[in-house]
Order: sequence, then structure tokens, then C-alpha cells
Amino acid sequence: MRTDRPIIVVGAGVGGLTAALALHRNGLPVEVYERRTVAEILDAPGSGLTLWSNASTPLGWLGLGDRLQARAEPVTAIHSFDARRRVRFKMSTHRHIWPGALPSLSIGRMDLAETLMSACDERGIAIHYGQKVTGYTDGPDGVEVRFENDRAGVVGAALVGADGVRSAILARLHGGEVPGIYLGRTVYRGVIENARGLVAGIPQLFHDEATGIGGGVYPVGDGRGAWTLSVRAPAGERDEPGRLHARSVELARVLPSVLRDMVDQTPGDAIIRTDIWYHEWHENWGVGRVTLLGDAAHAMPNDLGQGACQAVEDAVVLADALVASDMDSLTGMADALRGYERRRFERVKWVREQSVRVATAPEVRNPVGRWLLGKLTRLYLSLAEKGMWRQMQALPELTATGTPVAEAAGSAP
Ligand SMILES: Cc1cc2nc3c(=O)[nH]c(=O)nc-3n(C[C@H](O)[C@H](O)[C@H](O)COP(=O)(O)OP(=O)(O)OC[C@H]3O[C@@H](n4cnc5c(N)ncnc54)[C@H](O)[C@@H]3O)c2cc1C
Repeated sequence: MRTDRPIIVVGAGVGGLTAALALHRNGLPVEVYERRTVAEILDAPGSGLTLWSNASTPLGWLGLGDRLQARAEPVTAIHSFDARRRVRFKMSTHRHIWPGALPSLSIGRMDLAETLMSACDERGIAIHYGQKVTGYTDGPDGVEVRFENDRAGVVGAALVGADGVRSAILARLHGGEVPGIYLGRTVYRGVIENARGLVAGIPQLFHDEATGIGGGVYPVGDGRGAWTLSVRAPAGERDEPGRLHARSVELARVLPSVLRDMVDQTPGDAIIRTDIWYHEWHENWGVGRVTLLGDAAHAMPNDLGQGACQAVEDAVVLADALVASDMDSLTGMADALRGYERRRFERVKWVREQSVRVATAPEVRNPVGRWLLGKLTRLYLSLAEKGMWRQMQALPELTATGTPVAEAAGSAP
């Protein structure tokens, strides 16, 4: 049996919008509620992200492959250097994509947001902007979602909390705010036009072992380049107003000129600073008609660039799990949602573990130890590279609808 009541998605980030597109594609009614306005989303300071093949491909299944490839830059490898530009490791990632998969893509976050938002618009999916969700009540006939400012609640057949690392839905599910784990690092990011010194298809990473400052530069399409700088800092520390540029320039001083130049050219109001928080692993993603997706369910360190990718995977598996469900019955819906969660646990747990392992690898200050660790890192990467990158880019399996082939036209490894 099929209800007309929509599945309510809270949060119009990568995960929420991909879920909306995937549910709609499977013929399920869906509405999205997002606390920010369109301007707040699209005018935020720029940064980039990588959609590894395990995420670009499902987005291709949703009909976005051509648009994304037109706006983004394919990624084929990663090169990592020390502060003096000596090679730490070089890793081919494209060799490890799966048959029929799209290439991995680096893209400006605003380009990705705009692509997802306009695809929802074109397909008639309602996104209600400027609506902050404060809680919900789950009942036998539906789940009622409440909003800030006494706006009348709405009732849905299910509620998907895709509201990020500080999820209100996660907090309600766990009976109070779930404390995050602070990685001990803050990240400065920016995007510039006409970036110079970038290598097509290859993010270049830098690490100054003496100070622990890391960074990276990569093309994000249309001649633009994204940069990041990562440094140890106390949680919640903020730069004095107007100091973002000066602070970024100061940090970049120990890293190669390609990064320094890009930082130099980025105006302070186009720089964003983010503390890196993630969650303890847990498998309480939902109860009754409620579930979680993306960072709300499993925020992880950013080191392997898999947070948004896992949100995309969640989204297509969720839609697959719901396609044949009885949405009117509480048990039908609850069974389908628990089925989605079980299908995701093992995969997300493994990806999260890899990310935590890389993010928390000890830094060695002693130069001989650093040299030895460098050798071991290279040895480890050469042995583990194949397995890890291949497994990392595995495509989600769709059991109810079958794995689509449309637009998935990448080359086999
Ligand atoms: C420095 C850095 C680099 C990264 N690089 C990569 C990368 O290269 N590749 C990758 O895959 N991932 C990367 N990530 C991780 C990625 O950004 C996140 O995992 C991803 O954005 C999570 O998507 P999401 O949709 O779950 O949550 P979010 O993107 O956080 O979206 C949540 C949405 O919910 C809205 N919201 C929140 N609360 C409410 C509420 N109460 N009511 C209504 N709306 C609400 C928010 O406004 C937001 O729009 C990186 C992260 C960082 C910090």
C-alpha cells in the first residue's frame, strides 16, 4: 500500500538532497526541510570536495553524471609531498574504480549544492528553506515534525535526519545531544579563480612534519583551484575578526609556493575555518518511522574524503530499501528503515575505521623516526593501496531496483 504523505528529509546537504532525488526516482513522495536560506547556502565561502567514484557513480544513476562531470575535475591519483616538496607517496586511485563506474570528481561545494538543488527543482521536489526542525513525535499513523518559531508541524510517513554532525534528530533519538569527538585539528579552506601550478586530475597534498601543518591544492573545474590548510588547535578557537587571511598566510608559510600563492590570493571573507568533529561509532540510527543518514548517523574524520560519499551511498540504499515497503503501516515502514540501516552498517563502519586510522596516526617528531615512518608509510601504501582503494570505491548494491547503468560510462580498472 502507498500513502500520499511524504517522506520528510531534514537537511538539504549532499546527503539530504541525494536522498530526495533517489526517493523521488523510485516514485516515493518526498519533501525536504532545510534551516538555511538559498542565499545562505549558495553565498557561503567557497571550498571544494572530492566525490570518489563510489559517490559520483550513484549520482550518475540519478541522472547527474553529465552535469557533474561538466562542472568538476576528474581525479586519477593523489600525490603527497613533504614541506620541501620531496615525494612522500604517489597513489593511483583511478586504477581502482569499478567496472562501469564514473571517474572520481573534485568539485566546488557550491557547484555541487547548486546541481543538486536545481535537479530537485526540475523534478518538482519541494525544498522548504529557512525551516529549522526542532523535534518530532513518532506515532502509529505517521511522524510529526516540529519547527522553530511555532510554525505548524507536518506529518510524514517517515523522517530522515540528514541534518549533519550536530543533528537535532540524532539528539532526539539518543535522548540528548550526542557528544562529538574533536580530532584536535582545525581546517582553513578557500577557492580561487585562475589557479596556477595545479596538476590536472591530481590533488597535491603537503605535510610539514616539524610543525604538523598539512595542506593541499586541487583543481575543481573551470580554472578554479581549491586549497586546504590543517593545523592542531583547541576546539572552538576562533580568529579575531579580519584575521582569517593573515592567519592562513602565516600557516601556509611552511608549505610549498603553489599553496602559499593560492592562499595569498584568497580574500579573507572567502576563507572558511572548520574544526573537525566526528562521532563515536554507534548503530542506533533510528526507531519506528525515523532514521538517520550521512554525518547525522556517522560523522567521520575528513582525511580520506569519504563523509559526503558515504552520505550519497546511504541515500541510494535508503531509497532502494523503501521502494517495496508498506509505507502506511508502522511495522512495514520500520522494517524497511531497519533494513536500510543493516545494509549500511558494515560498509560505513569500515570506511569510518580507515578514516579514523589515517586521521589519528601518530606524528613522529624525531627526524630518524620520521624517516623510518616515511619508509614504512610508503611500504604500507604500496601493499595496502590496491585493496583499500578498490574497497573504498566499491559501488553500493541496489537489490530491489537493480544497479542502474545509465550514465555510468567510466572505464573499467
Ligand atoms: C575540511 C573538510 C573536507 C572534507 N572533504 C570531503 C571530501 O573531499 N569528500 C567527501 O566525501 N567528504 C568530505 N568532507 C565531509 C563532508 O563535508 C560531510 O561528510 C558531508 O557534508 C555530510 O553531508 P550531510 O548531508 O550528511 O550533512 P551536511 O552537509 O552537514 O548537511 C546537513 C544540512 O542540514 C541542515 N540542518 C542542520 N540542522 C538542521 C535542522 N535542525 N533543521 C533543518 N535543517 C538542518 C544544515 O543546514 C545542512 O544544510 C569534508 C569535511 C570537511 C570538514
